[in-house]
Amino acid sequence: MPGIKNALSLDIEDWYQGILQIDQSNWHNYESRLIQNVEKILALLSSARAKATFFILGYVAEKYPKLVSRIAQAGHEIASHGYSHRLVYAQTQDEFYDDVLRSKNIIESITKTKIKGYRAPFFSIRKDCLWALDVLVDLGFEYDSSIFPVKNFLYGIPDAPRRIYKAGSKGILEFPLSVLNIFGFRLPICGGFYLRALPYFITKSGLKYINKKMIPAVIYMHPWEIDVGKPKISMKLKWRIIHNYNINGMEDKFKQLVKDFYFTSIEEVLFGGRG
Ligand SMILES: [Zn+2]
Repeated sequence: MPGIKNALSLDIEDWYQGILQIDQSNWHNYESRLIQNVEKILALLSSARAKATFFILGYVAEKYPKLVSRIAQAGHEIASHGYSHRLVYAQTQDEFYDDVLRSKNIIESITKTKIKGYRAPFFSIRKDCLWALDVLVDLGFEYDSSIFPVKNFLYGIPDAPRRIYKAGSKGILEFPLSVLNIFGFRLPICGGFYLRALPYFITKSGLKYINKKMIPAVIYMHPWEIDVGKPKISMKLKWRIIHNYNINGMEDKFKQLVKDFYFTSIEEVLFGGRG
């Protein structure tokens, strides 16, 4: 596979856990579809010979420890997506510390390996909660991949750097979601909703352009984004779009993406090591 190493990341949560309006106290009311979707992703990555970073929700790791082991045994990096999938800026510093520590302890007790990376639920490290980056350093994390250098109603730091950089007052390594600057307009080329929404050729040529400048990209996806059979529930239009838009074409786009580019884990891109 030609080209430079890009990072692939999966945010491991069940479909209803990624819906802001569904509180954790109600999660038990919804059908879990996580295992089958993660298995599908593992098979897909294996056939593409790609490695990835799996940011696993602590709640999920606690419920499905064998799934965490399976992902680790397949050679992928295991990292933290927090415990309860709450917006970072809606938490106090103490709540955030406890939430991330809880997820770290659960995951590390399963894998027996120290976690290096963190991804915030809903990419919710914004300018108003940059303290979170320093909390991650205090907890022993080596990198964060939560900052989205765009303007969005839920997340984003529109003027944040678009390359890997040292962030926060303690200088944690930040791998921001990949965004292309087109005449001052920032276009996310980073998978997930944007891979679903944009025609594939735009993602492909955008990623080629980023790589041509020898900049590695980080791509994300959720297991529920390739699940055409996930239950339909009533939601406001904005959230229906976020959750369901172009789900039908996503699996094929994702397959094509991992075929067209060289993907590995974030730790491999940042630190070398296993990949
Ligand atoms: Zn998430």
